[in-house]
Amino acid sequence: MNILPPGSTIGILGGGQLGRMLALAAAQLGFDVCVFTDEPDSPASRVAARTFVGSYLDSAALGDFARHVQVVTSEFENVPAHTADALIAAGVRVCPNPRALAVAQDRFDEKSFFNAHGIATPRFAAVASQGDLDTACVEIGAPAILKTRRLGYDGHGQIRIHGVGDAAGTYEKLGAPGILEGFCPFEREISIIAARGADGAIAFYDLCENEHSGGILSRTILPARVGAAVVVHAQQAARLVLEAFDYIGVLTIEFFVMRDGSIIANEMAPRVHNSGHWSIEGALTSQFEQHVRAIAGWPLGPTTRTADIEMVNLIGDDAHSWSELAADPNARLHLYGKRDARAGRKMGHVTRLKRA
Ligand code: AMP
Repeated sequence: MNILPPGSTIGILGGGQLGRMLALAAAQLGFDVCVFTDEPDSPASRVAARTFVGSYLDSAALGDFARHVQVVTSEFENVPAHTADALIAAGVRVCPNPRALAVAQDRFDEKSFFNAHGIATPRFAAVASQGDLDTACVEIGAPAILKTRRLGYDGHGQIRIHGVGDAAGTYEKLGAPGILEGFCPFEREISIIAARGADGAIAFYDLCENEHSGGILSRTILPARVGAAVVVHAQQAARLVLEAFDYIGVLTIEFFVMRDGSIIANEMAPRVHNSGHWSIEGALTSQFEQHVRAIAGWPLGPTTRTADIEMVNLIGDDAHSWSELAADPNARLHLYGKRDARAGRKMGHVTRLKRA
């Protein structure tokens, strides 16, 4: 892979806050960024050199975008397969490997992939009808969670099934092909953020401990309260996934930590991740810079954590407290420039460092 010198242009699919923070990190290393998004006035476009607004299915628009960039990456995993194909056909490199995007888009394929690589998941079954759901409920037992196979995020597209008798009519409520997962009575949730460079080098960030509220990440702390074996197992899983996809860039895997210390993979994100935002102030190389380095063919940077961390998401109205947060010398405030603070919308985050 050729190394992109400063002054090259990086293309980002998607205009959300992850794209915005990627663009800021790319600028720090002397790159320009072009964003491709289907939304005018996106958080990323306001810090990018140029934005192409168009449909992810419009080959001509994607071809035009491809002519202006030297590599394309993505800030969301639900990039249609057509988009990656059109960009590759236009002759531009797409990182990470679109195969990783495709697997991460479908919860059934993702969990099957994990299991095929020896990574434990909750018990699961594909569900394409009420009959499938009834059978799966008997096989997996209750409690269980019915999720859409595709396009689920932040707890959307999920229905809890408390008892085997509760499933009647539930498939219709889901309204799309699904997956039934056994409920994991976890002790805590963690994520690992890992990166693989074009030279095959792999770097891991310290494990993140995550708290969710209503299916949305609300708080991340480091160090995660887990033993050394959990770190080893999470790193082994991340290495397996990175190598299986010949992956270049940052990848995240979320796990449940069980009472016996075992870890169970919930999902992966082939991208930078909300639970890694602390790395902007709390690591020698942020996850955003790391991703830019990897896709540009640069060496990975050191991932050393420099402090104990608390990162809190500002969701919906939380962002209205910006003036108090701005006055708190211990709060590093990030606002994403979203125009309206709708309920459940990630508006920004705050990181607090406690020097170790
Ligand atoms: P997801 O969209 O799959 O990441 O789910 C959002 C959140 O729901 C997770 O972070 C967990 O807190 C919870 N959750 C999802 N799947 C399960 C499961 N199989 N067992 C227990 N909790 C789950």
